[in-house]
Amino acid sequence: MDQKTVWIGTNWKMNKGPAEAVAAARALAAFRPPEGVRAFVNPPFTSLKDVSAILQDSPVIVGAQNMFWEDSGAWTGEISAPMIAECGASMVVIGHSERRQHFGETDWTVNLKVRAALKHGLRPLVCIGDTLDEFEFGVSQETLARQTKIALHGLSQGDFARVLVAYEPVWAIGSAGRPAEAPFVSQIHTKLRAVMQEITGPDSTVRIPLLYGGSVSQANIRDYVALPDVDGVLIGRAGWEPADFMKLVDSVS
Ligand code: PEP
Repeated sequence: MDQKTVWIGTNWKMNKGPAEAVAAARALAAFRPPEGVRAFVNPPFTSLKDVSAILQDSPVIVGAQNMFWEDSGAWTGEISAPMIAECGASMVVIGHSERRQHFGETDWTVNLKVRAALKHGLRPLVCIGDTLDEFEFGVSQETLARQTKIALHGLSQGDFARVLVAYEPVWAIGSAGRPAEAPFVSQIHTKLRAVMQEITGPDSTVRIPLLYGGSVSQANIRDYVALPDVDGVLIGRAGWEPADFMKLVDSVS
């Protein structure tokens, strides 16, 4: 069997102003991830163009953290997929739990954004996640299946080939979170893999990369990446410093 491609990215969230983001991008510019690893960074909008320019000849992929589904118009404060593409970014995070939790994003708006991203050649990284209540009531799987089915509704085989999904338990994200145990992640991902096969169709050969995110660190990254149904990780805090990020990426080889 071919060795799987491993995706490792870091979402800078609302950190790093333009000067700090440029410095971080410069620190990453000469970085060459190990073979089989695709690294990406998600800077804030204010530095998307600069970071994309600095990393344009680098294998490190640049993606936005969010987008709006209309191309243009009277949507004060929003940023569209064509704007992101024009900045030189090729990826976009959609439906991060912080957006669902604090900014009213729903499964339906996630689907609108995924379709708009694909229409403009961006690779959507769709985040799905169960809350602590859902986890404790034992309904994580139902929530994740629903979020995935709606996010990917109406996509073609060609679209599926460009999408990534990240399982990010809400209870595992951020400084108050605790990392999900690897056996639990394995169980969830195996079931999600079946859901995605149902979505792409029984005859589809597309394997949508399925990442894990939530308190990933140097201490646990290898445990997650070693799981057969985990195709990479989405990292927050532990990857914000370029030196730490490069070390994390290198550690999975
Ligand atoms: C995230 O917010 O997507 C995330 C994974 O954060 P952290 O790694 O800091 O838990």
